[in-house]
Amino acid sequence: MLRIVPALDGGICRIKLAGGSITAPQALAVAQAAQLYAHGVIEATNRGNLQIRGIGEQQDALIQALLGAGLGPRNLDSDDVRNLMLSPSAGLDPHMLLDTRPLAAHILGALEGNPRFHDLSPKFAISLDGGEGLVMLEHPHDLWLSALQLEGENLLAFGFAGCPGQDSPLAAVPVEHGLELVLAVLELFLDTARPEQVRMRQLLAQIPAAQLLEQLATRLSVELRTDQKVTDWRRAPVAADQHIGIYPQHETGKVAVGGVAPLGRLNPEMLSAIAQLAAEAGDGSLRLTPWQSVLLPNVPTEQAQYVLAGLQAAGLLCSAEQALAHMIACTGATDCSKGLADTKGDARILAAQLQKNGLSRAVHLTACQRSCAAAHRAQVTLLAVSAGHYDLYFRDAAQPGFGVLQARDLTIEAAGALLIADSRSSTHD
Ligand code: SF4
Repeated sequence: MLRIVPALDGGICRIKLAGGSITAPQALAVAQAAQLYAHGVIEATNRGNLQIRGIGEQQDALIQALLGAGLGPRNLDSDDVRNLMLSPSAGLDPHMLLDTRPLAAHILGALEGNPRFHDLSPKFAISLDGGEGLVMLEHPHDLWLSALQLEGENLLAFGFAGCPGQDSPLAAVPVEHGLELVLAVLELFLDTARPEQVRMRQLLAQIPAAQLLEQLATRLSVELRTDQKVTDWRRAPVAADQHIGIYPQHETGKVAVGGVAPLGRLNPEMLSAIAQLAAEAGDGSLRLTPWQSVLLPNVPTEQAQYVLAGLQAAGLLCSAEQALAHMIACTGATDCSKGLADTKGDARILAAQLQKNGLSRAVHLTACQRSCAAAHRAQVTLLAVSAGHYDLYFRDAAQPGFGVLQARDLTIEAAGALLIADSRSSTHD
């Protein structure tokens, strides 16, 4: 948040939110700052954060306004490393095995408070899954942790440079040793990695995971569980699209209500309307999700439809039937110098074409290979090759990168026609 990054359309300020959560007054402050000091474009990121784009010369005023609203880190040096992803329904989810919020607060406290950890790369990231039904399991993290119960014991399974949706754990510790484990992994990484190895996958290319695990074991006061019951365990998959619409909570009589920011973008009016709704009918907080959507938690069940209608009126996509709700697109050529195509404009054309045919597909449009918009591999990727033209890939677990190349140099309309034909002949999504 303190380091404004330049882009074609002006500066970008990323506001990292603890557990994706922001209060309604803070959201109003973000909306106001985007209006006053930038061009009014606010983005919901795939890490559950917010960012303001198009910042002009009043960078300092913008940062001061955000700091004044209580956003930003407690320790200014730690802003970059506060990368901990939780489920958007952490602490509220009917399926959770663990309320991850207290442990998350301790981990964030350590990242902020321990100067040693400020040497971590701004990209080094941790995920903490409490067994919730509304959780992103496919974003790779340098360290991932997942709650599981074995023989009546509550454990935290973990792995390196991967994600619980695709990998089995390396080992597990009792939940009460979770903080000790995370701190030990971070220390081990910093002690072992060479300066050019800033991510866990780079370290693993040099030191096998089993060897790292042995070293980790010597730093812990508890024995690592590496028996087959742990290493064969796989996280149960979760249903798709649960972030859209009404989601039940653990507590009877309360629900969470959410909608997708179209192509990840909000404007100050939208964010203000959502914040007001949260204050009026929710618990006064908003949660940003890895699907670039917003969730209002703790809405009384009888208010759910009212809130849903309010989110829709604010401009969020609140039905899984809306094709645009399943599309993600990077900034694109309009605002990024690396972009070869206007991905956001083309995504709208494609969504309209699919909608007309009663279809929705999870499509990722990327204006260059860097794939900023997707931390995971989408079912379908359109990689720009020139303005309005894309190569089409279908995800394939056996293939690296975007998956299997299906067709080259398609116009967006031709890509749409191919997706429509494919959907009619198969059941991809
Ligand atoms: S994927 Fe490429 S074109 Fe798109 S925002 Fe990232 S760097 Fe820019």
